Amino acid sequence: MGDMRERWKKGLPNVNAWNRAWSGRKGKQMRKTLNNLKVTILCGFVTVLVLRGTIGGSNSFYSPTAQELQEQQQKTAEEEAIAMDTRRILEEKKREEEEEDPEPDPNVVYSLGPEIKDWDEQRALWLSQNPDMAKTAAGKDRFLLVTGSQPKPCDNPVGDHYLLKSIKNKIDYCRLHDIEIFYNVAHLDQEMAGYWSKLPLMRKLMLAHPEVEWIWWMDSDAMFTDMVFELPIKKYKDYNLVVHGYKEQIYNKKNWVGLNTGSFLLRNCQWSLDLLDAWAPMGPKGTVRVEAGKLLTQTLEGRPEFEADDQSALIYLLLTQNELWSNQVFLEESYYLHGYWVSIVERYEELMEKYHPGYGDHRWPFVTHFVGCKPCGSYGDYAVERCLNQMERAFNFADNQILDIYGFHHNSLESGKVMRARADTADPLELYSETTNLLQQQQQQQQQLSG
Ligand code: UDP
Ligand code: MN
Repeated sequence: MGDMRERWKKGLPNVNAWNRAWSGRKGKQMRKTLNNLKVTILCGFVTVLVLRGTIGGSNSFYSPTAQELQEQQQKTAEEEAIAMDTRRILEEKKREEEEEDPEPDPNVVYSLGPEIKDWDEQRALWLSQNPDMAKTAAGKDRFLLVTGSQPKPCDNPVGDHYLLKSIKNKIDYCRLHDIEIFYNVAHLDQEMAGYWSKLPLMRKLMLAHPEVEWIWWMDSDAMFTDMVFELPIKKYKDYNLVVHGYKEQIYNKKNWVGLNTGSFLLRNCQWSLDLLDAWAPMGPKGTVRVEAGKLLTQTLEGRPEFEADDQSALIYLLLTQNELWSNQVFLEESYYLHGYWVSIVERYEELMEKYHPGYGDHRWPFVTHFVGCKPCGSYGDYAVERCLNQMERAFNFADNQILDIYGFHHNSLESGKVMRARADTADPLELYSETTNLLQQQQQQQQQLSG
C-alpha cells in the first residue's frame, strides 16, 4: 500500500520545484529568453505562411510539411500521455480504496457505540450551560444537513461532476435557509459501508453537536428543486423522525417503497439514538447483511432479492415494533420531502409556465431524488444517459431560481450556459428578484404559523 502511494506521488510532476525556478531571479532571465524565442518562432511561422501563399500559389490544396506532421504527431502523443497519466492515477486511487477489509466476525454483535441512556438530560444540561448556542441568530432551531459519497472516485468520471453539482445545489438551499452542511466521504465504520454509512454518521454528529436540534440526511443523488420552500417545522413538534411515506402503503401493503430514506429528519434526542440502535443490526457487511436481505424480501411486498438496505430495514422496524416507534414518526406526504424523479422531471417546463417556487408539492417539487440511478457507480436500474440528462435538467431547474437573484437564467434546462434575464441597474438595492420576494413570503408565513 505504502509502495503504491510512493509510486502515485512519483507519477506527478514536481510542481513546487518548477514554480520556484520560474519565479526566482534565474526565472526572470529564463522568461526573457523564452519570450525572445517565442517572437522568433512567430516571425518564422509568418514568413513560412507568406512564402507558401506566394510561391505555392498554384497549388490550391494544403498539404502539411514533414515538420508540421512531426509536430502534430508529437502533440497527439503528449495528449495521450496526459490522458494515460490521469487514468492511471484514477485507477490506482480506486485500487487503494477497494482493498478488501477483513470480513467482520459474525459472532461479535455489532453496535454503533457505547450505550447512552441519558442523552436528553446530558444535552439539556449542555444547552443550559451554553444558552447562546441553542438557536440560530434568527432564533430558530439549528439544522444540520448531512450528505456524502464514497471515498473513491466515481466509476464513471462524469458521476463526480454530478456529485459536484448536487453539493452546489445543497449549499445554495442551505445558505438561503440558514442550515449548516456536513459532507462525508469517509467510511467511519467499515462494517456499515455504502448506504448504511448514514447511521453511524448521524449518531456521531448528534453527539458531537448538542447545539443541533435536527439532523437532516439527504442522499447525494437528491437535489432541492424548490429553493424557496421552508420546512413546516411547527408540525413536527411532537415527532422525532420525519420521512416521506404513506401509512397505508407501509402498514397495510407492507410495500418496500412505502417510505424513502433518501431525505429525512431526525431529532437530536435519546429516542433517535435508540432508533439507530434498533435500526443498525441488519447493516454489517457480509453474512449478516446478506441473510437479513432474505428476511426483508420475504416480508416486504415487491422487494427484489438483494442484501439488506437501510430503507427496507426501517419499514421492517415500523412493522415489527410498531408500538415502540410509530407514534414518534411523522409520515410526510403533503409535499415532496423526497420526490421520485421519474414522475417529476418531464414536467419542469409545464410547471414553469403554470406555477412558481414555494409550493414544494406536485406544483413545484421540493426535492427530486434520482432513486436507482447510481450516477457514481456502474450498475443502476435506469440507462445512464437518461439519468445524467435528467439530473442536468433538475440541477438547471433549481439553479434558475438561484441565478434569478443575480439576474441570469439558463438558456434551457438542458444547457449549462446562462444568459442575462434583466439589465443591470445603478440601484441594485432597490431591486427584488422573484426568488427573494417568494423567500420573504415563505418566511413570513412560517413565522405566523409558529407565532
Ligand atoms: N453513500 C455514502 N457513502 C457511500 C455510498 C453511498 O454516503 O460510500 C450515500 C450517498 O449519499 C447515496 C446514498 O448513500 O446517495 C444512498 O445510495 P443511493 O442514492 O445510491 O441509493 P438509492 O437512492 O438509489 O436507493
Ligand atoms: Mn438515492
